[in-house]
Amino acid sequence: MLDFVNTTLALKGPVDLLETPADLMEWWGSAREMYPALPNLSGAITAHTLERAKGPRSVLRTELGHAIEHGNLSDALLFELNAILHEARPYVARERDRASVKLAADHPDQQLVVELARLAAHLAGSNEISRIHSCENSRCSVLFVDRTKNAARRWCSTLCFDQTRARKRRLRRASSA
Ligand SMILES: [Zn+2]
Repeated sequence: MLDFVNTTLALKGPVDLLETPADLMEWWGSAREMYPALPNLSGAITAHTLERAKGPRSVLRTELGHAIEHGNLSDALLFELNAILHEARPYVARERDRASVKLAADHPDQQLVVELARLAAHLAGSNEISRIHSCENSRCSVLFVDRTKNAARRWCSTLCFDQTRARKRRLRRASSA
């Protein structure tokens, strides 16, 4: 889920990794490799699907920021997730001799956004919600789950750790010169 939120980066100025429908298709493919339970989309991703997905992404980024700061879930996050799930209107249908859950609006636009909402709800219901941090590199906007035992991880990557250290060293040198 955080991978999706992290598709907006700010390493050297803001970057959006989801510029075209093909980018989102590729992201979905790699997400499915990581979470095999995610379904194959029932149709192609269009520019409209991309726009639909960007709305929840920005809400998630804001509201996960709230969770990081306050250690709890905001009502706005639940409201957004419920609005998405409500619109999709899941129902149970017969498929051969078994029941299966379908969406009333089984369009790929809907399907992708609903799957994202499900992932977000899963994250929000897990212990990981209290372990989400934002990278301390001031030029980085990546959110990550801190799985270290003492919950003391501060950077998303060694690259950000090195950048922060180098910047501090430069500042020190500049102030002592
Ligand atoms: Zn970082």
